[in-house]
Amino acid sequence: MVGTELEDRAVAAYLGLAIGDALGATVEFMTPREIRAEYGVHDIIRGGGWLKLRSGEVTDDTTMALALGQSILEQGRVDALAAARAFDGWMRSKPVDIGNTVRRGILRFRQTGEACTPPSEHDAGNGACMRVLPVALATFYHDRAMVRDAVLAQARVTHNHPLSDAGTLCVVDMVQAFLAGHSRVEVLHDQVHRLIEQYPPFRFRGGKPRENPTGYIVDTLQTVFQCFFDTDSFTDCLVETVNRGGDADTTGAIAGMLAGACFGLQAIPPAWIKALSPPVREACEAQARALVGLDG
Ligand code: MN
Ligand code: MN
Repeated sequence: MVGTELEDRAVAAYLGLAIGDALGATVEFMTPREIRAEYGVHDIIRGGGWLKLRSGEVTDDTTMALALGQSILEQGRVDALAAARAFDGWMRSKPVDIGNTVRRGILRFRQTGEACTPPSEHDAGNGACMRVLPVALATFYHDRAMVRDAVLAQARVTHNHPLSDAGTLCVVDMVQAFLAGHSRVEVLHDQVHRLIEQYPPFRFRGGKPRENPTGYIVDTLQTVFQCFFDTDSFTDCLVETVNRGGDADTTGAIAGMLAGACFGLQAIPPAWIKALSPPVREACEAQARALVGLDG
């Protein structure tokens, strides 16, 4: 693996996460019909949305990932307690948005000091998955058992549910396969089909295109998989994803990390990179490089 190509894909994945988040936040909780009426096709980073963001600003999906990435760099590895402290500090910084399961998990950590929340049937949201990219980058050189431990350590600070675990691990496996230069066809047959064999609810073909995806990890990943595997470029994948509305900042963020890792930096429209708030863009680029350099 040429170091520069790995770094290039890592940076693209991190910028993809932030771009998908920023693009999707404008239309979060809107229906496709409402999006069409307001914007035609929404494909410009313009801020607004229910959070009234400034253009180029991102939401919890990106800022939680940055908090997690920072904790990994400080520790030199993925550590559940350090991740919990990072999320706690992140919540104290008054983020623009925060999911219910994430809030509950962090409050529980404050009360108990335990960085692993007990299993709960309510924890099948997409909050552990949306922020997981730094773990994928930091554990690229590790064997799969260690990757799995690291993924679950960060996930279970707030989410402890088999579907959240499986979906989050699958996204990490996919990102790492793209970092290693695998094709989309290979990733579909290896990582995605393995997930669906074990957890059939994630099947994403044979039904209608998913619209208005909720924060349920199954809805989220079905939408992301449909948009990612049924388009052929970074741009088309993200535009298709966010225009389906619903939890669009999070589907956008996950689609963005996959499409960035898959298609690389040169596939990302320069206008979208330029539209990101400079501190966010710089933090994503710097973390991506540092995280893949951890064990290289
Ligand atoms: Mn968000
Ligand atoms: Mn969201």
